[in-house]
Formats: sequence, C-alpha cells, structure tokens
Amino acid sequence: PTARTILITGGAGFIGSHLADHLLARGHRVRALDDLSPQVHGEGATRPTYLDREVELVVGDVRDRAAVRRALQGVDAVYHLAAMVGVGQSMYEIERYTSVNAVGTAVLLEALIERPVERLVVASSMSLYGEGLYRDARRLPFPGAERTLAQLARREWEPVGPAGEPLAPLPTPEGKAPALPSVYALTKFDQERLCLTAGRAYGIPTVALRFFNVYGTRQALSNPYTGVLAIFAARLLNGRPPLVNEDGLQRRDFVSVHDVAQACRLALEVPAAAGQVFNVGSGRSFTVREVAERLAAVLGQERLAAEITGKYRMGDIRHCFADIERARRVLGYAPRVDFEDGLRELAGWL
Ligand code: NAD
Repeated sequence: PTARTILITGGAGFIGSHLADHLLARGHRVRALDDLSPQVHGEGATRPTYLDREVELVVGDVRDRAAVRRALQGVDAVYHLAAMVGVGQSMYEIERYTSVNAVGTAVLLEALIERPVERLVVASSMSLYGEGLYRDARRLPFPGAERTLAQLARREWEPVGPAGEPLAPLPTPEGKAPALPSVYALTKFDQERLCLTAGRAYGIPTVALRFFNVYGTRQALSNPYTGVLAIFAARLLNGRPPLVNEDGLQRRDFVSVHDVAQACRLALEVPAAAGQVFNVGSGRSFTVREVAERLAAVLGQERLAAEITGKYRMGDIRHCFADIERARRVLGYAPRVDFEDGLRELAGWL
C-alpha cells in the first residue's frame, strides 16, 4: 500500500500509540494530536516514553480549532480516538464528557470540511448497545438505574427466560438498536453518527469501529475510571485483591489491543468499509471474575482471589460480547491474540 500521512487524535493514549506502531510498521507517517490529559498521563505530563520517536506529537485539545487545523496539515487520513473514556465518571461529569467527546468531534469535522481526507475512522464503543441480546428474554435488567444489594442477592438483575431461568447472552451484532445506558455511551454514539453523517455529506469515506473491552500494555494504571484489567492489575501490583463489582459473573468481550490495531488498519485499507459500522471484539466472552483470577494467576498472585463487592456501578450493563461476522466478512478481520498470551504480555509489562 502507498505510504500515507495519518493523523491519530488521542494518539498518545493506549490504543492510539499501538495503532501508531502498527501504521509505522506498514511504512506510513504518523502524527498524533493529544492534550496529554492529566487523568490519563499524570499532572504536567510530557511525551509518553512508549510513544515511538517517529510519531510527530502535536500537543493540543481536539476542541481547539487552531490546534486541529495545524494537526491536519498534509494529512491523508484521520483516526479519531481522542475521548474521555469512563462509563462511571460520565454519569456525573456530564458536561465534560459531552464537551470533549461530542463537541470535540464537531470541531474536528468542521476542520475536515475545509480540508477533506481520503478516509476517516472513528472509535466508537460497545457500550452504546446496552444489554446484550437474549433469545426469548422475558425480563431484562434495567440499565442505568441504581440496583440495591437486596436486588443483587435475589439475582433480580439477571436476564431470565419464560420459565424464570437465567439466560445466557447471544453475541451482539451491529444491527442491535442502541440502548445508550450511560452518558459515555451516548457521547460515543454522537461521535459515530456525527462522523458518518458529515462524512456522507462531504464525500469523506468514513468508518465507525465499535471496540469492545480492549486490553494490553500501556493502558493507564493510574486512571481509576477505565480499563478493568488495568484497574485489576494496579490493585494486584499493590498486593491487594481486585475489586469485582456485582457478583463477578457479568460477561464481557476482551480484545487485545493488537487485534484492535489490525481492525483499524483494515478500516483504512478496505474500500468496501466506507459508510459502515463494525464490531471489533474477540467474539468470545469471559466473566469479569474469571479475568480477575486469570490475571492474578499470570502474576503469580493466586492468593489474591477476586473480592466480590456486590456493588452495582451506575450505567453498567450485565452481559455483552461481540458478533464479529461483519468485520470478518467485509474487513477480513481475524483476531489473532489468544487471551492467555495477551494476559502474559500485559503481566510482563507491568
Ligand atoms: P486513552 O485514555 O488511553 O486514550 C485517549 C487519549 O485521548 C489520551 O491520550 C488522552 O490524553 C487523549 N485526549 C483526551 N481528551 C482529549 C482532548 N480533549 N483533546 C485531545 N486529546 C484528548 O483511551 P483508549 O482506551 O486508548 O481509548 C481510545 C478510544 O477508543 C476512545 O475514543 C475510546 O472511547 C475508544 N474505546 C476504548 C475502549 C477500551 O476498552 N479501551 C473501548 C471502546 C472504545
């Protein structure tokens, strides 16, 4: 493929920096626009050491029109990853999430009208689906509402079938109507809709990727609002057991950041992807309790078994994992990283 100059907003972050490595290895030039948010990078942070030296870093806010214009000079394609990423935090920092995620995307799009690119890829999220899909569900948990400990104990939040039996979820396809259970989910939906709408109107081929639970090296251990594996790792490194919400049996789709980088690259290269939305997951699910225990085992800390809190976090859903058939078929996406290998790589970096 021809070498391109590619802008990654949020390119100094976890996924963005891995994507940068992946694109550099394919011969592209990479620029990052990132404000080095204190919540992610620490107070007064400078360029992160993990960011490849070849990456040209423009320090600036995606809501700053002048910084965005500067970052777009000479650029052929854009990945829009800059965002605030905490579900729980979004439920009370509503203005900040709406501003960074939705308004930030609007500022980027207005700059792109003046200076169109060959392709725009926007990072969306599984969180917009809300609860996963069930066959014959009689009762679904009501997301977005506080659940009491008594309800948790009676398993009232568990999806049940016609005979009252707990239901296992099905993989969630892109066609599922978004339930938007949190402010974060709503702002991610805003981001993808704004990009797809403006992309269509201005002839910018645009792709939205709905990432599931991404894990890997470089995920901020100090940010208490995101990345459940990073949060568990931070606890384990301090000799404390991971705190697992609810009963720990909620299911998620953990996808390696390397597989996510692969999907991002394919979204740039595959012409038929334009105008579409794709799930990017591993296609299989684990309970949160199991991943906590497996991470502890990989770190040689089996004795720090997961501590089940029985607490419900506002805006959370019970189960959700990806149907990745569309990404397989259209993008040629194939997740490669085995979960155990991914955990080992993460443990080696900690
Ligand atoms: P991250 O926090 O590591 O990276 C986000 C980057 O954006 C950070 O470097 C931060 O400094 C930067 N940023 C934040 N606000 C900014 C602003 N106003 N202007 C410029 N830069 C700003 O998070 P990540 O996990 O790498 O997430 C990247 C993208 O993927 C986000 O859009 C997120 O919503 C999406 N996503 C992530 C996951 C996941 O599991 N990590 C899942 C679904 C979607």
